[in-house]
Amino acid sequence: MSRVLIIGCGGVASVAIQKCCQVSEVFKEICIASRTKSKCDALAAKLAGKTATKITTAQVDADNMEAVIALIESYKPELVMNIALPYQDLTIMDACLACKVNYMDTANYEPENIDDPAWRAVYDKRCKEKGFSAYFDYSWQWAYMEKFKEAGLTALLGSGFDPGVTQAYCAYALKHEFDQIDTIDILDCNGGDHGYPFATNFNPEINLREVSAPGSYWEDGRWIEIPAMSIKREYDFEEVGKKDMYLLHHEEIESLAKNIPGVKRIRFFMTFGQSYLTHMRCLENVGMLSTTPILYEGKEIVPIQFLKALLPDPASLGPRTKGKTNIGCIFTGKKDGKPKTYYIYNVCDHEECYKEVESQAISYTTGVPAMCGALMLLTGTWKKPGVYTVEEFDPDPYIEALDKYGLLHRESNSPVLVE
Ligand code: NDP
Repeated sequence: MSRVLIIGCGGVASVAIQKCCQVSEVFKEICIASRTKSKCDALAAKLAGKTATKITTAQVDADNMEAVIALIESYKPELVMNIALPYQDLTIMDACLACKVNYMDTANYEPENIDDPAWRAVYDKRCKEKGFSAYFDYSWQWAYMEKFKEAGLTALLGSGFDPGVTQAYCAYALKHEFDQIDTIDILDCNGGDHGYPFATNFNPEINLREVSAPGSYWEDGRWIEIPAMSIKREYDFEEVGKKDMYLLHHEEIESLAKNIPGVKRIRFFMTFGQSYLTHMRCLENVGMLSTTPILYEGKEIVPIQFLKALLPDPASLGPRTKGKTNIGCIFTGKKDGKPKTYYIYNVCDHEECYKEVESQAISYTTGVPAMCGALMLLTGTWKKPGVYTVEEFDPDPYIEALDKYGLLHRESNSPVLVE
C-alpha cells in the first residue's frame, strides 16, 4: 500500500494531487500538507467521493525541518513529494533523510534570501568557477548523494516538464535515436492567452527571478553567459504558430551537460510576448523584482512578494486561458555513422486541461510529470539509491506513463532547426 505525503497545494500540486487520485490503485493514501491548510481542505473536499484514494490534510511550514520531521513521523509515508517552492528543497530532503523516506521535487534548490552571507560566499565562488550566475544550481542537492545512497533512499530531482520531461526526452533520444548527440535545443512555447496585460503562469516570484536573470548556454565544455533576453529567435510551433523565443539559463542544461556524453551544445529557449517583456522590464527598472526587503511605513516588505500579492494568482488563470503549449527538444547528432535530426515534443491545450482538472496547461504539464515521477518510484520502476535527475533513469516507462496520463509525445525526423 502506498502512502504519500505531498507538500504544497498551489497550481502545480493541485494538478499532481488530482492525477494521483486518478491512479488510486498506487496512490492509496495521500496527505496534502501546506502552509495554508484551508487550500488543502478545499481540494480534499473537491475530490471527496470522486476517488478511491484516502485523502487527509495537514498544516506544515516546510521551512522548519523539525515540523516536517514531525509530520513525516506521524503520517509515515513511503515518499514525500515536494511541490512547494525550491526554497524548501533542502529542509525537506533533510527531513526525508532523518525519517528514511524517499524524496522528489519539481525544481532545484534556490535560497529565498540571496543576501545571506554564508550562501553568497558559496554562490560567488560557483559563479567564478562555473561561469553562470543563476541563483539556482544542482550542487546543493547533489551534495546529498552519499547520504541518500548510504540510507538506501532515492531522491528524484526536477520531475516537472522542464526540468523533467525534457530530460526524459534526451534520455529517450540517446537510447533509441542516436549513437551520438551533438546539440540539444529545448524549446518551451506557451501560446496561451489569459487576457490579462501581465500575469505569470506559475509562482510569480520564481518565474520572474528566472526570466529576468542573464541567459546562458553550454558549448564545448563551458558555460557562455549573455545579458537577459539578448538572444532572440522566431520559431513556427506546431498547433501554435510563429512565436518569438529567447535564450534563458535553465537548470536541466547543467545536469544534461554531465549526463549526455560528448554533447557539444545545449540551449534553452522560451517564448514571450512583447507585452510580458515590456511589463517585466518596467517592473525590474522600478525595483519591484527585488528580493531584498525594504522598510515601508515602518514595516519590512520584500518588493517581489508584494508584487506577487498584486498579480493574478496563477491558479486563477485556468478558466481564462485559451491556446496551447508546445514544449520539446530538437537534437542533431549521428546514428549509424550518418548525420541525423530529431524532434520530440508535446502539445497541450489550456482549455482541455481546464475541463479535466480546472487548471491551465503550465500547471498541468508540470503536475502530470510530478505524478508520473512518483509513480515510477512507488512501483519500484525507478529504484536507485542516491540523488538523481530524470535523464539518469530509463525514459521508456516514464514516457509511457506521460502518454497514458495526458501528455502524449509527438516526434519528427525532419524538424526545422534553430539557427
Ligand atoms: P504556487 O505558488 O502556486 O504553490 C506553492 C505552494 O507551496 C503553495 O501551496 C504554498 O502555500 C506552498 N508553500 C510555500 N512555502 C511553503 C512553506 N514554507 N511550507 C509549506 N508550504 C509552502 O507554486 P506552483 O504550484 O506554481 O509551483 C510549485 C513548484 O513547481 C515550484 O517549485 C516551481 O518552481 C515548480 N515548477 C516546476 C516546473 C517544471 O516544469 N519543472 C514548471 C512550473 C513550476 P501557500 O498557499 O501558503 O502560499
